[in-house]
Amino acid sequence: MTERTFIAIKPDGVKRNLIGRIITKFEEKGYKIIGLKLLLPTLELAEKHYAEHKGKPFYPRLIEYITSGPIVAMVIEGDNVIAESRRMMGSTKPEEAEAGTIRFEYAINKEYNIIHGSDCVESAEREIAIYFKEEELCPNWTTMLEMIMNNGK
Ligand code: UDP
Ligand code: MG
Repeated sequence: MTERTFIAIKPDGVKRNLIGRIITKFEEKGYKIIGLKLLLPTLELAEKHYAEHKGKPFYPRLIEYITSGPIVAMVIEGDNVIAESRRMMGSTKPEEAEAGTIRFEYAINKEYNIIHGSDCVESAEREIAIYFKEEELCPNWTTMLEMIMNNGK
């Protein structure tokens, strides 16, 4: 089923010049980017995004981390993209992340783990709405692959 998900390259990913490499993985996989921007999360935005973790021991450091520099916020679209992009990211703890995943390749520890991705349909909808206004999304363009496939019909 075609889904949308929210992906963010966290401040450590931006500071380590990994923006291009990470976006490339999603492009190469065949997902369609329908929203993309660089922004410095405010405290309010970070608290909204990570509301589910409020009260946990790591929460204050998480908020400090996510507001420590710009992030790249993205909405990507594709078949089963929510679960599949999480699989591409790898486990929260890099030592448990499968070989070849983004966190396996780049994350330093479970705290500074480079990337965020929504974990279910509800969080995807919630997170997209936190970071993007409807008019900021460009859902109506066709990839070259779609163009080629549709030409035959
Ligand atoms: N985090 C942390 N310590 C932990 C667990 C999580 O610093 O013990 C941070 C980490 O940056 C993680 C984020 O909090 O990506 C959100 O945690 P979650 O369990 O939702 O992991 P994710 O969905 O990002 O894999
Ligand atoms: Mg999470």
